[in-house]
Amino acid sequence: MDLFSAAYVTGFIARYGLRAVRCDDCKTCLTSPVMLPTNAFIYFKEYKDNKQSLTYPSERLVETVSASITVLDGMMAEVAHTYSVEEKIRAAIENTVDFGWIQSSGCSLHHQEIVDGIARSATRISVPWWCKRRNRSLM
Ligand SMILES: [Zn+2]
Repeated sequence: MDLFSAAYVTGFIARYGLRAVRCDDCKTCLTSPVMLPTNAFIYFKEYKDNKQSLTYPSERLVETVSASITVLDGMMAEVAHTYSVEEKIRAAIENTVDFGWIQSSGCSLHHQEIVDGIARSATRISVPWWCKRRNRSLM
């Protein structure tokens, strides 16, 4: 797995996605009140931004996003030129990655929404990122 793309995508989800979560149960499931060692690499840039985030992703969320990107990385070369790339990848992520922890430890009202949200954001952010890296490697 590409650690840097995982960091990029998880950091993006943490910065923009988690802030939008209004439900306390969902928040408890997805975030961590402290910066975990697994998160440190996501936030190394933050000191430069001069303001620290108060929202850190939970360890399970980092693992799940990383697993989603592994799925995406494994299939992009085969599907990048086809139609409905985003739908194909999102479906593969939802079918392959273990989202069981969200169902068991998360919020009973929103767990499906959260699974969809993670798969959707991981896909939306990673596809252009993958293409950018791919284009760079061909230059
Ligand atoms: Zn909820």
